[in-house]
Amino acid sequence: MDTRRFGRLYLAGEAELKKLPCLRDLGPEPLDPTFDAAILTAIFAGRRRPLKQVLLDQHLVAGLGNIYTDEALFAAGLDPRRPAASLNPEEAARLHGAIRAVLEQGIANHGTSIRDYVDGSGHQGSNQDHLQVYGRTSQPCPRCGQPLERVRLGGRSTHFCPRCQV
Ligand SMILES: [Zn+2]
Repeated sequence: MDTRRFGRLYLAGEAELKKLPCLRDLGPEPLDPTFDAAILTAIFAGRRRPLKQVLLDQHLVAGLGNIYTDEALFAAGLDPRRPAASLNPEEAARLHGAIRAVLEQGIANHGTSIRDYVDGSGHQGSNQDHLQVYGRTSQPCPRCGQPLERVRLGGRSTHFCPRCQV
């Protein structure tokens, strides 16, 4: 059983919700219609921390977890170790599209069932069958065949292809 605590449930009206420190300090949600490539570029501006770490920072972007971050960076062909501020507008636009795509795929597949995750109805998701890099260390890259690598960034396991992601 996974006993880590990821969530809290609050029962509150709109006005009270905005006052909760845990929500007030959250960054934009990637699936919000107003979240576009320009916002992502603005978030990255001046940040020297690795892309992976910035994407996982809930104060900057809300709701991206370890799995979806690795998958989005692979889909965008970007090295997770790169300083966030080093992305040009074209790369930021690619990453923006990739983030949306992996989240939408995860939702369509009812989530990623690693260990004992089940959705609100008690069903396992199937997104784990569609992961390209997460949890696939040393297996061939689905795009180029190079063995996938794992490094630790910001304390989190990070999976990537050393050839496709630059
Ligand atoms: Zn590759």
